[in-house]
Amino acid sequence: MDCPSCEEHIGWDWVEDEEIEPNEVFECPECEESLRYFIDEGTYLGPQHKTVEVVS
Ligand SMILES: [Zn+2]
Repeated sequence: MDCPSCEEHIGWDWVEDEEIEPNEVFECPECEESLRYFIDEGTYLGPQHKTVEVVS
């Protein structure tokens, strides 16, 4: 994924290593912005689509 704040790439393997769950707030390792991700099941984009947003 790309951080929506600083646009740095964050690997999903990093997210898994940090054991960050969907809907859980975490800090971008690059800019320390508070972020959160969701998994959308079965959208037209494919069977599984992850969305990352800044927590404001
Ligand atoms: Zn960032």
